[in-house]
Amino acid sequence: MDPHQHYYLDAMGIQLWEQRDAPPAAAEEVVVATLDWPALQHRVNECTTCPELVACRSQPVFGVGNQQADWMIIGEAPSEDEDKLAEPFVGKSGPLFNAMLNALGLRREQVYITNTLKCSTPDNRDPKPEETTACEAYLKCQIALVQPKVILVIGRIAAQTLLKVSTPIGKLRGSVHQYDGHIPLVVTYQPAYLLRSPLEKRKAWADLCLAKSVIEAGS
Ligand code: URA
Repeated sequence: MDPHQHYYLDAMGIQLWEQRDAPPAAAEEVVVATLDWPALQHRVNECTTCPELVACRSQPVFGVGNQQADWMIIGEAPSEDEDKLAEPFVGKSGPLFNAMLNALGLRREQVYITNTLKCSTPDNRDPKPEETTACEAYLKCQIALVQPKVILVIGRIAAQTLLKVSTPIGKLRGSVHQYDGHIPLVVTYQPAYLLRSPLEKRKAWADLCLAKSVIEAGS
């Protein structure tokens, strides 16, 4: 065995190695990237990386929908309602979220829906950067498993996390970005924000049409 490598077995019994000085998060990402759907869901359900979130969650909210969908929709974090029901976008903003999908001719079962953060936050506060970083390997693995034709990102924090920028959402929406250099990604506003600012619905509709045009151009 190479003395400069550190060998270990992960929870699934897969032999892996890491450089002695590799940060634990990088090792975790290597392990998570190898998982299939059931193993990934199990790992998310058992995750205790963020003690403050573990203390207040009922359960992680993994994601729902078609695991081979063309559309992957990624929000920020489950709210308290979604924490109880273990499903994204079923709380107060759920009806508007569903209406946005329906306006595109889509039903929830046809798309894959998840969040950057799998746990709800205390009092629905914004996720902290270290929390979204801790959860990132799970989301990356979900994206790799779905292989969507387009990613629709909902909300500032999800957009900034996925695109690794600090640009305001108003500047991120309205154009097609690339996730990981090859998956088209469109950003739009949170339904909760649209409920408070109905005049912005026109912009959100333009974003949805933009994402749909990406799908249509590729089929
Ligand atoms: N519900 C979710 O699941 N995610 C959000 O970003 C907002 C509401």
